[in-house]
Amino acid sequence: MNQVDYLRVSLVDRCNFRCQYCMPEGDDLKFLQQADILSADELLTLIREVMIPVGFTRFRLTGGEPLLRPDVVEIVRSIAHLPQVQDLSMTTNGFLLPRLAQPLYNAGLRRINISLDSLVPDTFEKITGSRAQTARSRWQQVWDGIQTAHEVGFNPLKLNVVVIPGVNEQEVPDLAALTLERQWHVRFIEFMPIGNADLFGERGWVPSEELRQQIRDRWGLEEGQVLGNGPADVFRIPGAKGTLGFISQMSECFCDRCNRMRLSADGWLRPCLLNEAGQVDLKRSLRAGASTQELQAMVRVALGQKAEINYSERDSGIPEGAGEANGQVNQGRYSRTMSQIGG
Ligand code: SAM
Ligand code: SF4
Repeated sequence: MNQVDYLRVSLVDRCNFRCQYCMPEGDDLKFLQQADILSADELLTLIREVMIPVGFTRFRLTGGEPLLRPDVVEIVRSIAHLPQVQDLSMTTNGFLLPRLAQPLYNAGLRRINISLDSLVPDTFEKITGSRAQTARSRWQQVWDGIQTAHEVGFNPLKLNVVVIPGVNEQEVPDLAALTLERQWHVRFIEFMPIGNADLFGERGWVPSEELRQQIRDRWGLEEGQVLGNGPADVFRIPGAKGTLGFISQMSECFCDRCNRMRLSADGWLRPCLLNEAGQVDLKRSLRAGASTQELQAMVRVALGQKAEINYSERDSGIPEGAGEANGQVNQGRYSRTMSQIGG
């Protein structure tokens, strides 16, 4: 099994967007109470005293929307300055980046992934849900956030595109074309059919290979490289300044390459995105006064569970959740959305 050294940390479960595949508007969303969310001190204690000693060195801050957390800059600064931390990154919807990109960079963040599912404001609105602002101004603010992050010096700057059949799949060439003149990394993520069923249509998800073929037909495609590619397969349009990534969790099982765990905003450590086995409640034990040794032991148990999950999924040749999402088990639905799992 791979060394598990990468932790995705959800800072908050709330969000200022209502993406149809994540927190669809109108659903009976239940959010955590403030008191149930790990404080910055508790989070830092868990990272420094528990996760780092058992081998985690790379961290990604996510959510919900991590930038909604008022102490996000302080959290970044504290983690970035831990000498054992080899990599710190963030995934955000970018809406608050016009104001926060510079403070985050100054605090030590260097890598950022920004979600941008569409270049068309109305489509963006359809995907990310309707809120107070107009579609145009909301899309524009995210685009401004991307530009600010670029100017501030984030590198590599990655854009996450979840490809939804019939909604934004026709924009794939336009989104890929962003890399022709910019040193950005655009990553196409196979859509996991969860959240609002009205959005999905019949097809569920578009295999990455179909997207690559569209791009290949137009420009050609060669293998590429980018820092921190994780589960993405990386390519480049010949002569382009930036790169393209494809995350194919639906069409391809990459459980045997998995090197990550997730810590939810309320302190649950989850060994696997798609499988609830082996999760442990670190916050409860921390608040009950468990020693760092006891907390480390809990993490080691979760690591052991993860090894078992990965082995059984490799044997079956299909990730458990992907089977569900394919409709083979559960009519194409996951029980929990990404924001509930912890980004
Ligand atoms: N709010 C931040 C954002 O949107 O970037 C961070 C949290 S969000 C849950 C993390 C990533 O998960 C985003 O890139 C989002 O597009 C992706 N995601 C959420 N639901 C998904 C789904 N059903 N299928 C594929 N990706 C999904
Ligand atoms: Fe919010 Fe991100 Fe989920 Fe969209 S994907 S609702 S931006 S947490």
